[in-house]
Amino acid sequence: MNSRQASYHEPLLLELPGETHEFRIPEGIVPESMEREDLNIPDLEEFQVVRHFTRLSQMTYGTDTGFYPLGSCTMKYSPKYAEVLAASSNVRRLHPHQDESSIQGALQIMYDLQRMLSHMAGMDLVSLQPAAGAHGEFTGLLMAKAYFKERDEGRTQVILPDSAHGTNFASATMAGYDVVEIASKDGVVNLRSLEKALSEKTAVFMLTNPNTLGIFESEVLEMAKLAHSQGALLYYDGANMNAIFGKTNPGRMKFDIVHFNLHKSFSTPHGGGGPGAGPIGAQGALAEYLPIPLVGYDGERYYLDYERPRSIGKVRAFFGNFAVMIRAYAYITRMGAEGLEMATENAVLNSNYLKAKVEKVLPVPYKGLRKHEFVASASQLRERGLGAVDLAKRLIDYGFHPPTMYFPSLVEGALMIEPTESETKEGLDTFCRALEHILQEDTETLKTAPHNAPVRRVDEVRAARKPILSWRMLERE
Ligand SMILES: *Cc1c(COP(=O)(O)O)cnc(C)c1O
Repeated sequence: MNSRQASYHEPLLLELPGETHEFRIPEGIVPESMEREDLNIPDLEEFQVVRHFTRLSQMTYGTDTGFYPLGSCTMKYSPKYAEVLAASSNVRRLHPHQDESSIQGALQIMYDLQRMLSHMAGMDLVSLQPAAGAHGEFTGLLMAKAYFKERDEGRTQVILPDSAHGTNFASATMAGYDVVEIASKDGVVNLRSLEKALSEKTAVFMLTNPNTLGIFESEVLEMAKLAHSQGALLYYDGANMNAIFGKTNPGRMKFDIVHFNLHKSFSTPHGGGGPGAGPIGAQGALAEYLPIPLVGYDGERYYLDYERPRSIGKVRAFFGNFAVMIRAYAYITRMGAEGLEMATENAVLNSNYLKAKVEKVLPVPYKGLRKHEFVASASQLRERGLGAVDLAKRLIDYGFHPPTMYFPSLVEGALMIEPTESETKEGLDTFCRALEHILQEDTETLKTAPHNAPVRRVDEVRAARKPILSWRMLERE
């Protein structure tokens, strides 16, 4: 690739019909230490850039391309009206430094969204600040920390079931807590183990319900009672909230803090790791610790509320991920309470329909119905020298995104499948036919899959540990 020479002080000539304008950056405006002799950027034609990015867009896979049953991560169809609104110039042209009086509409949307989410979660107040689910967890744990500090309680532990999402462990550790893991029994939290783990050292018990096996923890009220009787707080990981809309909520389950994943349940697509939003809700005295700013309303105008003396402070630049809030607001208002409840019912129906079909070819440990997702086991492939990963890679050849693999770890060779509410019966049937077909294929075909994808089998560990990110042509090893 060529590089282009640039000098800040050479005149830049712009020719207009009949006249010539000369633009010159005045001497001294750019500090000398920041001046560059070389500006090494790719020298390409527009069509080359367009072709490059169009080609890349065709190499990727998303819900616009096909079925994406990624369990726990809820890759559902994100309606296009939400995209159109988030991309509208009214949203795009807002600037975070604008005066409050000129962004009343935007603040009203945030205010209403805070209230809608509070209502849905059964919480007193919601802050829209955190940028993702894990960030919400971390924020919630910092709130718990501030809460106990003010009460002079030196609680140091967070209790997590072994089915918990990996981010729960990471957030607890990042927030400076010791993690106490409790083993599940029959796929749910064992009350005995919880009781044993609880003590005056417990700060928080974190749970997602339904859990990552898709099983509803029906003893949740007993768990809450046990934790509260030890003075501990209950944190609800709300990533799976799409399984309970209109049926129950974390408040009714007696939780104190909860985070949402707007990019999972509320129509923001999130392949590629973002952008997202992980609003955090809290109950009673905990609400005072929510991160600032919240959006307030004094009966006449909306305002950014920084006057919250107990708040843990800011956790993100400016006011959170506004375009994600727009999508969530559009989705919730368009669906309405009835629509959201119907989405939950369809998600649960789809999941149980698919489970019943998958069970004919792969074991699904733990009995009974599921909520929005289920976990099958591909451990039978081991006798052929294959794993869940080989099955998953072969699904790509049939036009499907693989399910979540090897999580939760309490199912060997886990394939965590979440169809979501948006898939059709035909789509689910086709997926099952592919699965059946693949299980009858020869070992070598699976081991070397994918065969038809733009990128073949990659060394995932190396890609994650030693990523090379560069726009420059790399010398091949
Ligand atoms: C996705 C997920 C998280 C983390 O959310 P991110 O937005 O990816 O940080 C936490 N818990 C559960 C159960 C999840 O599915």
